[in-house]
Amino acid sequence: MKYKAFTKKNMDQIKQLALLPQEARDRMTAVAEVLPFKTNNYVVEKLIDWSNIPDDPIFQLTFPQPEMLPEEKLRMITAAVKSGNSELIKMQAHSIRMEMNPQPAGQLELNVPREKDRLLNGIQHKYSETVLFFPEQGQTCHAYCTYCFRWAQFIGIEELKMASKETDVLIDYIEKHPEVTDLLITGGDPMFMRTKLVRRYIEPLLKRKPGNLQTIRIGTKALSYWPYRFTEDQDAADLLDLFREITDSGMNLSIMAHFTHLREMETQEAADAITAVKATGAVIRCQSPILKHINDDAGMWARMWKKQVKMGLVPYYMFAARDTGPKSYFTLTLDESYRIFSKAIRQVSGLARTVRGPSMSTKSGKILVDGISEINGEMFYALKFIQAREPQLVNKVFYAEYDPDAAWITDLKPAFDTDRRFFKGQKSDIEFLLPCRTGMDSDASAQKNCC
Ligand code: SF4
Repeated sequence: MKYKAFTKKNMDQIKQLALLPQEARDRMTAVAEVLPFKTNNYVVEKLIDWSNIPDDPIFQLTFPQPEMLPEEKLRMITAAVKSGNSELIKMQAHSIRMEMNPQPAGQLELNVPREKDRLLNGIQHKYSETVLFFPEQGQTCHAYCTYCFRWAQFIGIEELKMASKETDVLIDYIEKHPEVTDLLITGGDPMFMRTKLVRRYIEPLLKRKPGNLQTIRIGTKALSYWPYRFTEDQDAADLLDLFREITDSGMNLSIMAHFTHLREMETQEAADAITAVKATGAVIRCQSPILKHINDDAGMWARMWKKQVKMGLVPYYMFAARDTGPKSYFTLTLDESYRIFSKAIRQVSGLARTVRGPSMSTKSGKILVDGISEINGEMFYALKFIQAREPQLVNKVFYAEYDPDAAWITDLKPAFDTDRRFFKGQKSDIEFLLPCRTGMDSDASAQKNCC
């Protein structure tokens, strides 16, 4: 299939949209001025069930929905679009976006390393073993997910972008940090790049081969959004060759595949692409956030994890939706997510129980909702750091008061003083835990809600 992208500029060429009333189309176009919109002919023709719009999960995954903006903002931007005043549209879109937390969890200020007063843009080092690299030309995707927390990357806000083309700087950095074993090449979607560009980043790594580096991970949704990238595209064979060169070099290659819904795995195209990638010796691990309107269904998760195991893939993460973009549209409470996860995991064999979740990617680390417990008649969330900026926090279990409406760590309060004491002295990592219900902590700066 020949790739054809649809953006807000040529949305009207999607003939299937004629199925929607004009007013719904206008509102959708208005939302697309604020949130980045891009899809492609494979998603439109092979994944979306047009007899089920607007409820179809893949339609919800890729097309902007009016309810993603607060009513008042939607009215504002719709009026601006109707006025045809491009300056006004731009101004209002920008102001709405900036209220939508475009860089959650301190991504820019906390994760980008600094060396000799130089910020190493395009590199992030949050967890000691894993470095993230954002190749400059990989900062886009074959289609955009409506819930994407990287959405600021796609809308041209220069100060929010993070990308690099300096592989040497990356390799120097990895060599200087012996604790690093994993490199995650991410984006956007690095598989959007042509193979010759991917080679430009990977080959120097294979040549210099830092001794501490064991695994190259590539984060991608191409298996779902454009599986031809691994089969029919002109440079698909070269890409698979490159994958083989990585595994032949003795390094692991882990494809961090983003599958949000079972539907994405059901086409022949996806199956062929998975087979081709696996044949290179790469391991495919699967992850996705859990989201209202798209995949808030335990039965679907169970079937998806079973299918992943059947196809030789590894279920890896279920994430809680991040506090960014149209979060209120997608958010499930922690209680709901935990119950869906529990119901789903009970239906699969041990081989699918490699998946962890629901997990929140917070400023301090990945925090798993590990249980809802009743102790002496009171209800608590059992939480656990499964990854942490401060390595000594990894695997630490702590408790929060049960709150059925809480949707993120910032909505929770610590259950016991002992949890608070354990974190004392690491306030930057526990800001989310405060204020404590005992009100003992007098440090006002620690009480800001800043995750
Ligand atoms: S594929 Fe990933 S980076 Fe691309 S739009 Fe979706 S969530 Fe964002």
